[in-house]
Amino acid sequence: RIIMGIESSCDETGVGLVRLHDDDTVELLADEVASSVDQHARFGGVVPEVASRAHLEAMVPTVERAFDKAGLKLSDVDAIAVTAGPGLAGALLVGVAAAKAYAAALDIPLYGVNHLAGHIAVDTLQHGPLPERCLALLVSGGHTQLLLVDDIASEITELGSTVDDAAGEAYDKVARVLGLPYPGGPPIDKAAKNGDGAAIAFPRGMTGPRDAKFDFSFSGLKTAVARWVESAERRGEDIPVDDVAASFQEAVADVLTMKAIRAAKEHGVDTLVISGGVAANSRLSELAAERCAEAGITLRVPRPRLCTDNGAMIAALGAHVVAAGRPRASLDFSANPALPVQIVSI
Ligand code: ATP
Ligand code: MG
Ligand code: FE
Repeated sequence: RIIMGIESSCDETGVGLVRLHDDDTVELLADEVASSVDQHARFGGVVPEVASRAHLEAMVPTVERAFDKAGLKLSDVDAIAVTAGPGLAGALLVGVAAAKAYAAALDIPLYGVNHLAGHIAVDTLQHGPLPERCLALLVSGGHTQLLLVDDIASEITELGSTVDDAAGEAYDKVARVLGLPYPGGPPIDKAAKNGDGAAIAFPRGMTGPRDAKFDFSFSGLKTAVARWVESAERRGEDIPVDDVAASFQEAVADVLTMKAIRAAKEHGVDTLVISGGVAANSRLSELAAERCAEAGITLRVPRPRLCTDNGAMIAALGAHVVAAGRPRASLDFSANPALPVQIVSI
């Protein structure tokens, strides 16, 4: 069966096509993304109205490109999955409306699926089916969560999440302080390669004995970086951008991997999946690989292209939801900008 996935929760219009095989494995056939990120760069963050309009313009061309790439026709599709949330209301609406139109016109089932679960499900396209139970560290622009995944199609439990900024948000804000472009993840990752991660001891938030075990906090770190840069500027010093970037990145990677390993041990889970935009970070996957090897945990990190928003992740999750025989959405369902991760499909 062929499943089309449509993603429009933020600033990427994504269309993915996958094949669900009889043994429930999922094969990637096409993954086309149109991004409006350049239109938001000068604002330092996504402008919702601009994103919605860009989705509207990009949707049909992106669908057509995906079918061209896969060498398929619209009539080959057996089911459609679309991001139902969480995300920007107006942006989600464009994808949901498009998905409903295709589903109605083609007379095929429609599934409204969770964007965050999609970030995890995408790993099955690269590394095959998930084990019976695994831990997922979801690190993206809007979310930072530790999740216990018993069934990617229906059963996800939240162990902890950020109490303030998401990891990606911290990257974007620190990039701004350092005069690096938006989005901040890639340029900080690059600058950090030339810097020393031990140069500056930035704080590791929420790692004290009294802190909630699996929650995160990144706003203190972001403020510490801003203060450090300000005081260096006041002294008339040049900012060692590479060292600041590397030290900030080390603090983020340290806390994320420390808590993930702790959660895996405590819950007796031997597989860790790291996903979401920040999973594209080179130091995070490097440190996670080291610490997982020490702890005897199998680490799975999708390739960077699959970590950031795309349609393939929604198609992959849709395929798992179809394979599990979950109910389809009715054609009058609405997007939910605050959809919790526990609700995998609606
Ligand atoms: P959410 O999934 O929570 O709704 P989102 O969809 O906007 O948010 P993603 O596309 O998953 O988020 O990730 C975008 C974030 O990933 C941005 O904050 C960006 O800075 C960050 N990011 C991208 N590449 C890297 C990298 N190499 N290192 C660190 N962060 C990165
Ligand atoms: Mg984006
Ligand atoms: Fe995302």
